[in-house]
Amino acid sequence: MTAYERSRIILRFADLLEKHIDEIAALETWDNGKPYEQAAKIKLPIIVRIFHYYAGWADKLHGLTVPADGPYHVQTLHEPIGVAGQIIPWNFPLAMFAWKVGPALACGNTVVLKSAEQTPLTALYAAKLFHEAGLPPGVLNIVSGYGPTAGAALASHMDVDKLAFTGSTDTGNIVLELVARSNLKPVTLELGGKSPFIVCEDADIGTAVELAHFALFFNQGQCCCAGSRTYIQERVYNEFIEKAKARAMKRIVGDPFKKGVEQGPQVRSLSFPHLPRPSILKNISEAQKELDWHEIDSEQFEKVLSYVRSGIESNATLECGGGQLGSKGFFIQPSFFSNVQDDMLIAKDEIFGPVQSILKFKDIDEVIKRANTTRYGLAAGVFTSNLDTANTLTRALKAGTVWVNCFDVFDAAIPFGGYKMSGIGREKGIYSLHNYLQVKAVVTPLKEPAWL
Ligand code: NAD
Repeated sequence: MTAYERSRIILRFADLLEKHIDEIAALETWDNGKPYEQAAKIKLPIIVRIFHYYAGWADKLHGLTVPADGPYHVQTLHEPIGVAGQIIPWNFPLAMFAWKVGPALACGNTVVLKSAEQTPLTALYAAKLFHEAGLPPGVLNIVSGYGPTAGAALASHMDVDKLAFTGSTDTGNIVLELVARSNLKPVTLELGGKSPFIVCEDADIGTAVELAHFALFFNQGQCCCAGSRTYIQERVYNEFIEKAKARAMKRIVGDPFKKGVEQGPQVRSLSFPHLPRPSILKNISEAQKELDWHEIDSEQFEKVLSYVRSGIESNATLECGGGQLGSKGFFIQPSFFSNVQDDMLIAKDEIFGPVQSILKFKDIDEVIKRANTTRYGLAAGVFTSNLDTANTLTRALKAGTVWVNCFDVFDAAIPFGGYKMSGIGREKGIYSLHNYLQVKAVVTPLKEPAWL
């Protein structure tokens, strides 16, 4: 179909998404545990905007006329890649769907998307809305399945022309291997992070405390770009600890459908003890052989609590929280460590839970070095009222996004992605379009041209 027709279908889908925002927010909460108000009020308008943004691009993607050194007419055609395989995680199911499906369809590709096994609902619902919006059958295909089976099949499939993956760095490694052993399809990876949140002594401390809290605890701490290493300059360290701890203790945790609740349970998945262990596990990797389908249910909850125990054992100071909230469901108390050192596990690994870690620093050179000493490079936050300090830090930090005196500002037009082991490539903005287009150079001789 024409690019304009594609654009109109995506716009109609965005309208349907807006119309059904309440149901979709409820499904997202049901699936993932995030507070309904957050899912509906904060996230969904941003997601609708992603589809508006890419619908706008669909009919503006064109090649160039290229001046060659000779009597040739040279043009580039920007063509769809073909079948885009997409694998997404459970922490922001619909946002991840949007980041991937929006640009892929705008560029004229077909899609096979595998949702996370924990959170299959919103991708299925959105696909139904796309159908209603007029997308022909077969253009957008949703596969609900496990990673080592459905995900691995997609990554290694010879008829899939491009793979976009979002998930952990460890799984990103496996996916790259599968691609390398199959058809070398181009790959984009959006992986994990351990983002520094740097508060200088000249910052507005009240704002920094509130945003540091948001940067870590938002979405139950299950954010790839969570500000999970909070570096505070010596002179304001004690003041920051006192205020940030008070804020954490005030956090409202509970039923995610209840008004005013800021934090729901950690994600859980249904457990499938009746299913046999998939035979493909035998062939892929040692790590996956360890997967026990019987225990998958409380995996994330247990993982977060084990990091809290590790923090206590390594002598960080647990200022508040540290355990399960109540005795039912996967609710975790907002937890807060001070006196954290760079070599502790809680400062190195992605915890992906409501556990804030505070580290002290003396000067800017020191914090640059320490902030960059990680295998990750997804995002960073910088808090200062000094423009020179802000400029120095934004250029020195090895991260795909640096937020200055703000955090978690997302927009369809702003690219997102990682340095180092946080990923390959960028999503959102114009950068994502390049992921879904092939460039073909067409060269034709010019006979007796009036000009070259
Ligand atoms: P995960 O790596 O366990 O799973 C992600 C997806 O990969 C799921 O759909 C899963 O089924 C699939 N998968 C698992 N094994 C696979 C295999 N062998 N082959 C193919 N696919 C496989 O990650 P998760 O726990 O679902 O998500 C959390 C992680 O995602 C965190 O590390 C987080 O930082 C990262 N994340 C990154 C971004 C980003 O934009 N950089 C955004 C959100 C989440």
